Amino acid sequence: MSYARVGVVTGANKGIGLAIVRNLALQYPKSPLNDGRLLIYLTARDQNRGEAALQSLQEDVQLQKAKALVRHGGLTEVKFHELDIVDTTSIKNFTEHLKSSHNEGVDFVINNAGIAMQGFDSNVVKTTLRCNYYGTLEATKHFIPLMKPNGRIANVASMTGKLNKYSDTIRDQFLASKTVSDITELMERFQSDVDAGKEKERGWPSAGYAVSKAGVIGMTRAIATAEKEKGSKILINSCCPGYVKTDMTRGGGSKTPDQGAQMPVMLALEDLKDQTGLFWQDERPIQW
Ligand code: NDP
Repeated sequence: MSYARVGVVTGANKGIGLAIVRNLALQYPKSPLNDGRLLIYLTARDQNRGEAALQSLQEDVQLQKAKALVRHGGLTEVKFHELDIVDTTSIKNFTEHLKSSHNEGVDFVINNAGIAMQGFDSNVVKTTLRCNYYGTLEATKHFIPLMKPNGRIANVASMTGKLNKYSDTIRDQFLASKTVSDITELMERFQSDVDAGKEKERGWPSAGYAVSKAGVIGMTRAIATAEKEKGSKILINSCCPGYVKTDMTRGGGSKTPDQGAQMPVMLALEDLKDQTGLFWQDERPIQW
């Protein structure tokens, strides 16, 4: 089977990630990028959870497809593949699979996988940064060489990654960061300040999740700038899905997962007028 377009969603076995896959399938037929059959990889770190999600989605999309088929010719297929973003071997296995199966490259990747842990201490911060910052970064680095010339990468960050809770000095350092190394250096400094029990006096919030997401926004901006300087036309943006009712928010959240999926889906499928390196919410770029 050949596909005009190929897309990837990480952490897609539940919550916003699963809703992203469902909404990609539903919205692609009307997207300006629709030029034929779309394959979406629903990826998850756990095979059983991933396959169960695929099954539930197939049953769900089946209903929608019954309507969509009539008008749009049943354009979308969804497949499961294992991907754990904190496991280098898993990232390599998946990207090798993409490379060998899709010569022409990948159209879009939505880096949605993430964790939010309870409590605050060195280990919580380490585990959180490992997944949300370093895992997303490593996956992104492996995806970039596989992207089609006009490909899209959307990194799911969060409003908590905004720079309004740092000392002026740290906020200015984030804003002055030009490269991924600059952002990684800030992540390392945060970790060592937490390890020393001095993060507050050194201008950080006591919140590993928020800092990891500031890292995602900054790293996205740095990679987008570097790609642009190389003449690449890939568009790489970060976004906040809003406050969404999922396992992560434990019953809180004002949006449904389908509503939360809209922002990342837009970054993958709509005309972005070449905008790259920005942080988006509610379908528009906002201040970091
Ligand atoms: P959920 O906890 O419902 O889902 C998170 C998903 O990420 C799960 O599929 C989980 O898999 C997966 N995941 C976690 N670690 C890894 C890993 N190492 N490799 C691959 N997948 C992994 O959260 P949400 O759906 O709410 O969150 C999705 C994204 O949106 C996250 O990045 C989150 O930070 C962000 N976000 C969420 C907001 C909200 O209000 N819900 C607000 C702002 C941002 P598993 O089931 O195996 O644990």
